[in-house]
Amino acid sequence: MPEVGPEDFSAILAHVRDFVRTKVVPREQEIMEADAIPGDLRKQAAEMGLFGYAIPQQWGGLGLDLTQDVELAMEFGYTSLSLRSMFGTNNGIAGQVLVNFGTDEQKAGWLERIASGEVVASFALTEPGAGSDPAGLRTKAVRDGDDWVIDGQKRFITNAPIADLFVVFARTRPAGESGPGIAVFLVPADAPGVEVGVKDKKMGQEGAWTADVVFSGVRVPASALVGGSEDVGYRAAMTSLARGRVHIAALAVGSAQRALDESVAYAASATQGGRPIGEFQLVQAMIADQQTGVMAGRALVREAAQRYVSGADRRLGPSAAKLFCTEMVGKVADLAVQIHGGTGYMREVPVERIYRDVRLLRLYEGTSEIQRLIIGGGLLREAGRRA
Ligand SMILES: Cc1cc2nc3c(=O)[nH]c(=O)nc-3n(C[C@H](O)[C@H](O)[C@H](O)COP(=O)(O)OP(=O)(O)OC[C@H]3O[C@@H](n4cnc5c(N)ncnc54)[C@H](O)[C@@H]3O)c2cc1C
Repeated sequence: MPEVGPEDFSAILAHVRDFVRTKVVPREQEIMEADAIPGDLRKQAAEMGLFGYAIPQQWGGLGLDLTQDVELAMEFGYTSLSLRSMFGTNNGIAGQVLVNFGTDEQKAGWLERIASGEVVASFALTEPGAGSDPAGLRTKAVRDGDDWVIDGQKRFITNAPIADLFVVFARTRPAGESGPGIAVFLVPADAPGVEVGVKDKKMGQEGAWTADVVFSGVRVPASALVGGSEDVGYRAAMTSLARGRVHIAALAVGSAQRALDESVAYAASATQGGRPIGEFQLVQAMIADQQTGVMAGRALVREAAQRYVSGADRRLGPSAAKLFCTEMVGKVADLAVQIHGGTGYMREVPVERIYRDVRLLRLYEGTSEIQRLIIGGGLLREAGRRA
């Protein structure tokens, strides 16, 4: 049973929709130009509980399950994706590692501050040469008395420049000896030896920041080892990422809906030869393809979220939803630019931003190729087991 019933959830959803559409949408240009989310929007998001909507109520969050999370994500997708990124790591990839694998002491130590937004948590898995293949990561954690000493370099870490806590994946033994040998540690950003690089210059999602993070002889106590076990790291990463994939798929649907709405509004008002371009059937066809993509994506996201929550499918469904919806939004955003003609190529037009913002969705939390490998490989392994 979800912690939040349907009535309360409807109110939360309506509040979020109103916040996104009346407070954030009008400030998209400002966010893009400043490459930052304004402080007052951050404050409002924190007051609404958005830093902890997916964290259980016991730890100060709103306690939404994934079927509810995706409804919010479809709203967040409607505006600059950097808004969602601001609290995305707390609720998602980083926060869920603690929720699902942390000890009671670790949860008590961090989750309430993560849920309130006092602490920003970052998920530090990717390294140079270990992105699609996280099992190849080289960051090492070596036991020294009661402590662990961490050395390595992480790349493209969302929220690193503003993080208070890094959820760091590190190897405690070579791969293959027995299991993947990957553990996960809670490393405060101010621990000696943690160095955050300069903010990356990205294609889009202005206002969301990433950077490299270098760990040089970073010493943490045994209590920083998530779950108190060296063996939970790989499973924790895969579990967090699978859940995150359904969420990213929902964001994609939200962005596609926005691109569609912008396209319909533009086609209804812009004219050529004195006629609205929406009267041209080739323009209508583009809008029809957008609408079809949005509807299919929304249905798939809802089904994948339900099957995730019921436990029926926590692997193939999330990958299928992410693959379809992130590819779909790429096409829908491209059509949106096409419908806008030359205007769509101009910086102040929302579809230009959407086109750049959504490109990332096909890359992180597993590229489209990796989703295909998970789906295709998974089905064949199942068939092999049945044979
Ligand atoms: C803006 C941004 C934010 C990010 N945030 C985070 C974060 O917060 N935390 C974090 O840990 N990481 C983060 N990442 C990293 C992201 O998850 C990786 O970039 C992504 O998983 C791809 O890895 P890679 O960049 O190493 O590319 P590669 O893995 O080198 O991929 C390059 C190409 O090779 C293909 N490829 C790779 N392996 C295979 C294979 N086995 N079969 C077929 N094709 C393959 C890929 O699909 C892709 O087309 C972020 C990245 C970006 C750009």
